[in-house]
Amino acid sequence: MSAEDRAQIRAIASLFIPVDAALIDLLPNLEIISSFGVGYDHVDAQHAAKKNVVVTHTPSVLDDEVADTTVALLLNTVRDLFHAETYLRENRWETEGPYALSPLSMRNRTIGIFGLGRIGQTIAKRLSGFDVPIHYHSRKPVDGVDFTYHSTLAQMAEAVDTLICVVPGTAATHHAINADILKLLGPRGVLINVGRGPVIDEPALITALQDGTIAAAGLDVFEHEPKVPQALRTMKNVSLLPHVASASHDTRNAMGALVIDNLESWFNKGQAITPTPETAHLNSKNK
Ligand code: NDP
Repeated sequence: MSAEDRAQIRAIASLFIPVDAALIDLLPNLEIISSFGVGYDHVDAQHAAKKNVVVTHTPSVLDDEVADTTVALLLNTVRDLFHAETYLRENRWETEGPYALSPLSMRNRTIGIFGLGRIGQTIAKRLSGFDVPIHYHSRKPVDGVDFTYHSTLAQMAEAVDTLICVVPGTAATHHAINADILKLLGPRGVLINVGRGPVIDEPALITALQDGTIAAAGLDVFEHEPKVPQALRTMKNVSLLPHVASASHDTRNAMGALVIDNLESWFNKGQAITPTPETAHLNSKNK
């Protein structure tokens, strides 16, 4: 693309496409990057801020869908439902008799939510109906909730047996769930990840699942997706989803509409609707 053409570009709508510092630097008149999804780890928002470029994302409109999927993934993992259904479809119920009892259950579980943000709180609301104690860890306590707060992930992992990860993928959360955290979770431990793949040290998780350090895992996101390690694919105590937590027509349409609304609002009213925290201070065309 010629320098003249690049100078024409004032906005990027990014649907899971990486927008790195090099791309931002190529576009001298870029004003806004409107990103699809609440997680924007594929956009260099800090570099955008340095260049006075606003980055927007699509928070809130997907909370219910992601929370529903998280609860489904948790139940599927704990009660081994995928393999039970496969057993029926393979006609083994009729030929071999009842499916084996699940070694795990939701009874007497204690939940720990790593990241009690918009989605974490929506998950907690649903799980409150399961009569399970709910703990959480984030960098600061959340006002107005009566779940048990832990100031470190390690403290929470020790106190719970079911760890639900719904934090963003950042430098600070990279491999936050490592061999030490999995050991603290313990042999009844169930790990659910709907946040971002790199938050978990994947080789450490595979070892922990193989040697019984924890009991099971349910994963919607992966460290190098769409590549999923063969070891995970063949383990029976693992439920795997191809990053579909928000992937219904309704919710993806709402996310797409917010991408467009942010662009329209920026160019028509001089202010985007849902800027990321890194660029919120730039959210005025009259800045
Ligand atoms: P929020 O910003 O509302 O919540 C993020 C939570 O994580 C907050 O509670 C925050 O608390 C906590 N957090 C952030 N950094 C850290 C840290 N270093 N240590 C401890 N806690 C931390 O985001 P959402 O709930 O809207 O979304 C969360 C993430 O879920 C997204 O960023 C995305 O990666 C993922 N996601 C995945 C989807 C999927 O398809 N699987 C779909 C949608 C979202 P505090 O700041 O106090 O630490």
